[in-house]
Amino acid sequence: MKRVLVAGGSIGGLTTAVLLRDLGYDVEVFERSSRELQERGTGIVVLPITERYFTECGHDDQRVSLELTDWAYVDSSGTVIAADADRFRFSGWSTIYRALLDAFDDDRYHLDSEMIGFEQTDGGVVLRLGDGRSVEGDLLVCADGLASTARSILLPGTDPTYAGYVAWRFVTPESELTGETLDALRDAMIYQILDHSHILVYAIPDIDGSTSPGERIINAVWYRNYPDDGAFGALMTDIEGRRRAGTMPPGSIRPEFLEETFETAARVLAPPLREVVLSCREPLIQAIFDLEVDQMVFGRVLILGDAAFGLRPHVAAGQAKACADAWALRDALLEADHDLDRALARWEPRQLTLGRAAVANTVAMGERSQVHNTMVAGDPNWKFGLWEPGN
Ligand SMILES: Cc1cc2nc3c(=O)[nH]c(=O)nc-3n(C[C@H](O)[C@H](O)[C@H](O)COP(=O)(O)OP(=O)(O)OC[C@H]3O[C@@H](n4cnc5c(N)ncnc54)[C@H](O)[C@@H]3O)c2cc1C
Repeated sequence: MKRVLVAGGSIGGLTTAVLLRDLGYDVEVFERSSRELQERGTGIVVLPITERYFTECGHDDQRVSLELTDWAYVDSSGTVIAADADRFRFSGWSTIYRALLDAFDDDRYHLDSEMIGFEQTDGGVVLRLGDGRSVEGDLLVCADGLASTARSILLPGTDPTYAGYVAWRFVTPESELTGETLDALRDAMIYQILDHSHILVYAIPDIDGSTSPGERIINAVWYRNYPDDGAFGALMTDIEGRRRAGTMPPGSIRPEFLEETFETAARVLAPPLREVVLSCREPLIQAIFDLEVDQMVFGRVLILGDAAFGLRPHVAAGQAKACADAWALRDALLEADHDLDRALARWEPRQLTLGRAAVANTVAMGERSQVHNTMVAGDPNWKFGLWEPGN
């Protein structure tokens, strides 16, 4: 039985692990974190490929998302200025992570196992872990995220670049919002376009997975510009003076930035969106980065998901891209009758093409909103999707 080592046990690594395990491979996952992973950004949009494992592989009972049926753009008074009926599914990051973890095997998911390097051998690979262990395999899949150790070894100098803006993220239980606001949000995904900025608001399941109206969580994502000339560094320095890389967790943002953001929200946001934002006292911040590689396969080592391509979140496709890489690997292995080298040769060009197209699209969307100020209410191309708007 061929042995596959997966470095990085988040959504990309776990999806790869369950799919290849189901094909009959001997799979082990090595995750750097010493504890099960925690939500970083709250709500996520779930594209079909992200929950394909649950819908197609006999795990439909673990389906992990709720459906919203409408899109609406509102102006600053809250009046709907464009609307469309379109179905998308939403969930919490942890809900998807937990469901994947439950579908894998506990004794093959190793926490506190940091990849620090690897060596290629004749027809295989040896993974080196931080605690001195070495593990041999036929294939090493590196799903170790945007700050990938594997990428820094394989492609030194290919690093994420800051896009010039961040996502402020707010969550509020529906139970804490007024009836007026809940009526305005209904089962819709609500956008408001602002000056060189935009915000979107949607419901996600609560922490226990409840999707019942009244028990859900309302999640807001507000894209705001902080040029890399000092403003970004100041924002990403926490209340203890520590500079954070990509995420400012709840409770860590300095008061002057919170005050400015809440003050701006009170001034410019439509009433229901304003209420969602102002009800959340401890938002978090995710900086937006771009990343593109020109190689994903290096002998018997490959990089996938965020380790290879960092997408701006406007098409909600970060998880979907990681899952698409995993599904494509499974398909390539089947097409190549499990010949690893032939499978990797088939897999890489397709995933490079997909990654490049997705980066180009998300960069163009982000620039429309944050730089050129030309985002248009109801734009049919401003839709979630990995391969194209809506898909
Ligand atoms: C804890 C966590 C919470 C997140 N929360 C959200 C969210 O709420 N909303 C959202 O939209 N997106 C979130 N994301 C990002 C989203 O899941 C990813 O962008 C996307 O799914 C791509 O996944 P990935 O598996 O390629 O990379 P990532 O999800 O970034 O996972 C990389 C994994 O590799 C591990 N790792 C890193 N270096 C090493 C190493 N040297 N050895 C072993 N393991 C290593 C990391 O600990 C991490 O678990 C989160 C990611 C993580 C890790």
